[in-house]
Amino acid sequence: MKDIKSMSLAELAQDLADQPSFRAKQIFVWLQRGARSFSEMTNLSKPLRERLEREYTITAPIAARKLQSAKDGTIKYLWRLADGNCVETVLMRYHHGNTVCISSEVGCAMGCAFCASTRGGLVRRLTASEMLDEVLFTQIDSGEPIANIVLMGIGEPLDNYDAVLRFLHMVNAKEGMNIGMRHISLSTCGLADKIDRLAQENLQITLSVSLHAADNAVRSSLMPINRKYDVETLLASCRNYFEKTGRRITFEYAMIRGVNDSQVDAALLAKKLGCMQAHVNLIPLNNVAESPLKPSSSETVRAFAQQLAQMHIPATVRRSLGGDIDAACGQLRRNYEEQVCAKEAFGFDRGLGSD
Ligand code: SAH
Repeated sequence: MKDIKSMSLAELAQDLADQPSFRAKQIFVWLQRGARSFSEMTNLSKPLRERLEREYTITAPIAARKLQSAKDGTIKYLWRLADGNCVETVLMRYHHGNTVCISSEVGCAMGCAFCASTRGGLVRRLTASEMLDEVLFTQIDSGEPIANIVLMGIGEPLDNYDAVLRFLHMVNAKEGMNIGMRHISLSTCGLADKIDRLAQENLQITLSVSLHAADNAVRSSLMPINRKYDVETLLASCRNYFEKTGRRITFEYAMIRGVNDSQVDAALLAKKLGCMQAHVNLIPLNNVAESPLKPSSSETVRAFAQQLAQMHIPATVRRSLGGDIDAACGQLRRNYEEQVCAKEAFGFDRGLGSD
């Protein structure tokens, strides 16, 4: 059986070449409006619906948890996929429109020391349809139109390159959600070879790179990927990306007390970014259970930002939304799994992450 929502309109039309040409578009539109079954597609004949049921599956996640921040209206969903795995999606309300932060994988193989998403390793990669569903069903369930998408949830999007590229084209389709590439950001821990490949696609998306340290020894201790692609290799790929696409790159920098937050660290960062068009997003580390890493103080963050500004590197301190609902990546999925595991192991519900 084929996963119909991962197919482009052109691929669907090719599959249905024996049908009138408008059929594929009718079906595509039903899917992009969130139809969960072919029986809902009332403008198709019964024999065609039966044929579609035999040949294709429609993905549609179920909301296993929905949490809403009392402070800022941020909504976090834990979606249960067809095979029982769960992923998180966060809806944030900004002045410039609603932004949805989606996951690209169940778990993550990258092993960053500060990240909750990677603790259990990679379970599997998401399909294009499952990523599309995160956007689609968040919009349907919340009733909030989605203006922007960030691929900054669980997983490493460039480790799931083909499905992510397919997703980007699907969500951009004018017959579907029609979200412009300039309204989409993709965040990577720094797979330099894939950044080079992405540069060739010449998309107008914003690339965010999780740098977190400009010094190779520090970065390697935080992010194992740095042992494969060091800071210089990564920044060379970033420069190439900018030259090919003309899109300025955002560098994410989580400030960790006593690890990457000194004035010397700021100076080294400014020096390494000095020769390229860059913007730095500073964010105090989110506390992660069982981790000795702690956030920098707000004074340290401010001093770091000032030092960057003095060295002509534009930097902003990111506002953190949804702090009361475990909105930091991977935390809800982990709490939920602990709860389900506790239930299975002890036959009772410990009530973690309840809504
Ligand atoms: N794998 C991709 C996208 C997912 S993570 C990437 O690495 O970019 C989204 C962002 O959250 C990344 O910048 C990641 O480094 C950051 N992050 C993860 N855990 C964090 C924490 N505890 N505190 C602050 N930022 C964190």
